[in-house]
Amino acid sequence: MKVVKLIVLAIWLLPVQQEQDFTKRREEMVKQQIEKRGIKDASTLAALRKTPRHLFVPKSIIDDAYEDRPLPIGYGQTISQPFIVAYMTEIVKPQPQHRVLEIGTGSGYQAAVLSEIVKEVYTIEIVDSLGSQARNRLSKLNYKNITVKTGDGYYGWKDKSPFDAIVVTAAAEHIPPPLIEQLKEGGRMIIPVGSPFMVQQLMFVEKKGGKARTTSMIPVRFVPFKRSQ
Ligand code: SAH
Repeated sequence: MKVVKLIVLAIWLLPVQQEQDFTKRREEMVKQQIEKRGIKDASTLAALRKTPRHLFVPKSIIDDAYEDRPLPIGYGQTISQPFIVAYMTEIVKPQPQHRVLEIGTGSGYQAAVLSEIVKEVYTIEIVDSLGSQARNRLSKLNYKNITVKTGDGYYGWKDKSPFDAIVVTAAAEHIPPPLIEQLKEGGRMIIPVGSPFMVQQLMFVEKKGGKARTTSMIPVRFVPFKRSQ
C-alpha cells in the first residue's frame, strides 16, 4: 500500500518538479544569454523571465527550449533565439500604454514577451495552421491582450493602426511601406532586411516628421518574409 502511495505521489509531483526545472533553466538563460550580452531594460528582462518558452516549442524538443539558438516549430519556420527576441523587444522601447504590431506570429513567443509589457499586441501570421496553433496556445496560457490574425503582414493591420511599435520577425527584401505608414509619429520599428537564406541586417526604423530614419544594427539570419499570391 505504502509503495503505491509513494508512486502516486511521485507521479503527482513530477510535473511540479519539471516546471521548477524549466524555471531554473529560464533564469540561467536570462543571466547567461541576455544580461551578459548587454540587454539592460528591466521590463524586457522581467518579461523573458516570466514567459514559459518551453510551452512555445514542439513537445519533442521541449528539452532544448532554453538553448542559445533558434528552434524549428514546423512548416519550415523557427522560434527566434532568446537573445534576438530580447534585443528586438528592448530596442522598440515598449511601454505599458503601447499598442504593438508584430509580423510573423510563428509560435507566439515574441508576442507573449511583448504582451507582458504593453497594453495590446496585434500579430499577423501568413501560415494558417501556425496562426491557429498560436491563437490556441496563447488563449490556453491565458494571454488576454494578444490578437492573432492570419494573412500577409506586408500590408500591416490598418484598422488597428497607428502603432507605437512594430516588430517584424521574418526577413524582408525591403521595408514594407504600409508598415511605415501605420507607425505612429515617434514610433519605433525593428525589421530584418536582406536576401532570404543569407545574412540579413536588423534595421531599426524611427518615424520622425512623417519620414522613416533607418539605422543598420546587427547581422542576423531570419526565415524569409513570404508574400501572399
Ligand atoms: N515571432 C516568432 C518567430 C517566427 S519565424 C516566434 O516568436 O515564434 C517568422 C514567421 O513569419 C513564420 O511563422 C512565417 O510563417 C511568418 N511570415 C513570413 N512571412 C510573413 C508575412 N508576409 N506575413 C505574416 N507572417 C509571415
